[in-house]
Amino acid sequence: MKKKLKKTMAGVASLSLVLALAFSMPFPAYADKTEGIAANLEPASVSYTVTYQNGSATGELTAYEGDTYGDVLSGINLTGRHWCIYGSNEPLDLTTEITGDVRVVSKTCTAGEAVKENEADATCISYATYDSVTYCVKCGAELSRETVTGNEYAAHTYDNGEITKIATVNEAGEITYTCTVCGATKTEEYQAQTCTLTYRDGSNRGTVTVVVGVTTYQEALDSAKQTWRENCHWRKYGGDQSLIDLTETISGDITIATSKCTEETVEGKAATCTETGLTDGTKCSVCGAILTAQAEIPATGHTAGEAVKENEVAATCTEDGSYDSVVYCTVCEEEISRQTVTVEATGHTEETVEGKAATCTEAGLTDGVKCSVCGTILTAQEEIPATGHTAGEAVIENYVAATATEDGSYDSVVYCAVCGAELSREKAIINATGTGTTTVTVSAGTYTIGSAAGATITCDGNMNQLTGVQVNGTSLNSSNYTVAAASNGFTVTILSSYLDTLSAGKYTVTLMFMDDAENDYSGSVTLTVAAGSTTDPSDNTSGGTGATDPTDNTDGTGGTASTTGTGSGTTSATGSTGTTGTTDTTDTTNGTVTTTSTITDSASTSTVKTGVEDNLVFYVMAIILGMGVAVPVMVKRRKMQ
Ligand SMILES: [Zn+2]
Ligand SMILES: [Zn+2]
Ligand SMILES: [Zn+2]
Ligand SMILES: [Zn+2]
Ligand SMILES: [Zn+2]
Ligand SMILES: [Zn+2]
Repeated sequence: MKKKLKKTMAGVASLSLVLALAFSMPFPAYADKTEGIAANLEPASVSYTVTYQNGSATGELTAYEGDTYGDVLSGINLTGRHWCIYGSNEPLDLTTEITGDVRVVSKTCTAGEAVKENEADATCISYATYDSVTYCVKCGAELSRETVTGNEYAAHTYDNGEITKIATVNEAGEITYTCTVCGATKTEEYQAQTCTLTYRDGSNRGTVTVVVGVTTYQEALDSAKQTWRENCHWRKYGGDQSLIDLTETISGDITIATSKCTEETVEGKAATCTETGLTDGTKCSVCGAILTAQAEIPATGHTAGEAVKENEVAATCTEDGSYDSVVYCTVCEEEISRQTVTVEATGHTEETVEGKAATCTEAGLTDGVKCSVCGTILTAQEEIPATGHTAGEAVIENYVAATATEDGSYDSVVYCAVCGAELSREKAIINATGTGTTTVTVSAGTYTIGSAAGATITCDGNMNQLTGVQVNGTSLNSSNYTVAAASNGFTVTILSSYLDTLSAGKYTVTLMFMDDAENDYSGSVTLTVAAGSTTDPSDNTSGGTGATDPTDNTDGTGGTASTTGTGSGTTSATGSTGTTGTTDTTDTTNGTVTTTSTITDSASTSTVKTGVEDNLVFYVMAIILGMGVAVPVMVKRRKMQ
């Protein structure tokens, strides 16, 4: 389509229409956009005059290059008429382009024969319809249209029908048809097609009329109500004599006849322990009919064998054992039963476990008990504590004597009296004897219990260095002795009040000293303590304890002391020399009466040795009641630690 730009208002309107179309359409009206724009911008250069006459109306219209008659004349009402070129009766083709000035005239259309359009046939529920239409025989314009409707319904449109009652040999059947449009139904009878089955069973013969394709052979034979020979099957009579399948339907006249079955064995099978068996049977090898049915043989059941042990677990001392008692079938070896049997525990077997005695250092064990089978300890051994050592008497070993300048020593050792193990060892030091040894001679005096005077010991040492007095190593209380200076030293008198507490025996009296250098030293004498008299010395009669009696003439239990008889104290004695015996009559100064000891009748003296180092000299005199015997005593000057 080509359009030229017009200079008239109509041309502008046309351009606007073209632009509107161009922009409103999804694709430009021009195949080539560039061409279209160029065409639109190109001014129309040619126009024509169209003169028209439409009945009494006339006029002129302007056509531009490319316009068709339709374009120019479209605005003029032309119902029932068509355009012709002036002077022609041929209808104008309105699509033709105007190429020059022209004159056109409208002419009345000429209706042709009415034609049917949109025809619809009647159905069983609607009338038939169609449009009756006329067209101008010259220009083809539709001049009239009228819808025409019939007044009758069409017949129903039935389907192929369905048998709603089956025909038999003696009775008609029924078919029901249904309209596929409106569902209306109608029924029609029909007659079954029949045929004849002729049977021959030996002399038993007859016919049965049946419906073709409906009745089976079996049904037909059943309806004959005959008793057929046994062990026979049916064959087609004549022709191929093929076997008849009694379940098939009969399709036409036919004759069938029986023939004897051919017996064939059907193997049975033996029963087993658990499964039933079958007897032998027979069947027809031709038709397969069972002639002798197989009978079931019951299962034999298992045959139990001897029970056997399985899964044996031996009993122990404490745990039960067990086993399965299992019975198998001797025929098929299947397990018939299984029972778990418990075996009681055997219990322990006691056995003594020897213990052992404890020693000084090692624990012992009591006897125990264990199981000799499994080793379980039934009675535990108990520990017996070690006895410990038994200390014996200390003995001296490794004795090394002290010299004047070297200490000696020894080990004081204690051994176990049982095992001999050494328990203790103490090293003792023996002090060096030193070089200042002093030997003194003392009289071995005797003190008789009950004597008024104590025992006096004379020493020529330094009284100021005396530190104490010991009797048998026990220090005396200072109230038990007195110390007094003497012409050649000093004396120590142990009082009778102390001595009377002693029992008879020999005692070592030791004087303890410390020199200016704080060295200890000591000297000892032996003092004999004698028991007192058992007779009264004062009157020669028995009585008196002797403890006080001899000292005066009045004490005692027997009366006054005799001056001429047996000695009775310090003044009564006579004589100048001592005698031994039970009475003293010999001297005037030292007389004493004892019953157990010898009386020495002279004053005691001691021999003296001088110490090398400090010239210390001891005179130790034991003077017992003024009489004593001088006894040499070694006094050691000791260096004391
Ligand atoms: Zn016409
Ligand atoms: Zn219908
Ligand atoms: Zn057979
Ligand atoms: Zn079995
Ligand atoms: Zn055990
Ligand atoms: Zn021991």
